[in-house]
Amino acid sequence: MTINVLFSALPGRWEQYQEPLSAAFIHAGLRVSLRTDHAPETVDYVVYAPNGGLSDFTPFTQLKAVHCLWAGVETIVGNPTLRVPLARMVDAEGLTQGMVEWVTGHVLRHHIGMDAHILNPDHVWQPENPPLAPERPITILGLGALGTACGQALTGLGFNVTGWSRSPRNVQGIRCLHGSDELQQALTKAEIIVTLLPDTPETTNIVNAKRLALLAKGAVVINPGRGPLIDDAALIAALNTGHISHATLDVFRTEPLPKDHPYWVHPRVTVTPHIAAETRPSSAAKIVAENLRRAEAQEQLLHLVDRRAGY
Ligand code: NAP
Repeated sequence: MTINVLFSALPGRWEQYQEPLSAAFIHAGLRVSLRTDHAPETVDYVVYAPNGGLSDFTPFTQLKAVHCLWAGVETIVGNPTLRVPLARMVDAEGLTQGMVEWVTGHVLRHHIGMDAHILNPDHVWQPENPPLAPERPITILGLGALGTACGQALTGLGFNVTGWSRSPRNVQGIRCLHGSDELQQALTKAEIIVTLLPDTPETTNIVNAKRLALLAKGAVVINPGRGPLIDDAALIAALNTGHISHATLDVFRTEPLPKDHPYWVHPRVTVTPHIAAETRPSSAAKIVAENLRRAEAQEQLLHLVDRRAGY
């Protein structure tokens, strides 16, 4: 029997995904009709990007599951018209690899003080050596697919890494803390923090003035998670006093970041345009196909979103 899969994403994405998805479905032994224009009442699965324009799932009367192409699901998780399982993108080969590279690069930039030598217009001879990685405490807020992989890469380089999550985790080489009671401990004296939490009501403004004050003087904030994790006014105030020496931000409350936003002109803020980790069609297609195979075989789906937890 042929399975009808609707692809719903920004128009340019279809050209990128059609071939890898079709190949992955064949490889998974599935007979699929993959289109962008199936009639809703005939659709079995939706391969979905939250910015693709689809928000009302009511007409999808025979829908079995939705597979989100993004890791962050804050804009779909509370959709009351969606009454079938929702899976999100976890892809070690593409998305996670990209995030590990972005986080490691930006951590190393601040750790070894690259800017002092790259941006040295007065040609000052500055022979100070930075501390070595084991002397640099780094805290990662969020020890999920991405936070864990970044933490492991950083411990691999010798950094002293603490991770913090909602439930207890055990990751070799990482000091694992969890829950609101241990957040203060996780942040105290950290010299670099990396925020890889999902955007939920519990995580909104989690990096606020009180918590920034716990970090070591001159600490660096790196946010590739989601914009609302940061209390922007508190961060700018802490940058202005020098308590925070730099913020490298990939995600924002409003994207693209408005032209007149103070982050663009702040001398100690680096803005990157939500590029930390992109879903890569060739590897993501294999994840989607495996999940559809599982659904058709009545097996447990991978990377299911917990709709109540919000991520
Ligand atoms: P994940 O596997 O769901 O991990 C989320 C982590 O956050 C888990 O460790 C979870 O705790 C923790 N967490 C959630 N709510 C919490 C709370 N209230 N208190 C403490 N910890 C909490 O997600 P992921 O795949 O690693 O992705 C993380 C986020 O990265 C995504 O949600 C997305 O927003 C962002 N992202 C950004 C980009 C980019 O290009 N900038 C790309 C991809 C993803 P438990 O372990 O206890 O569940």
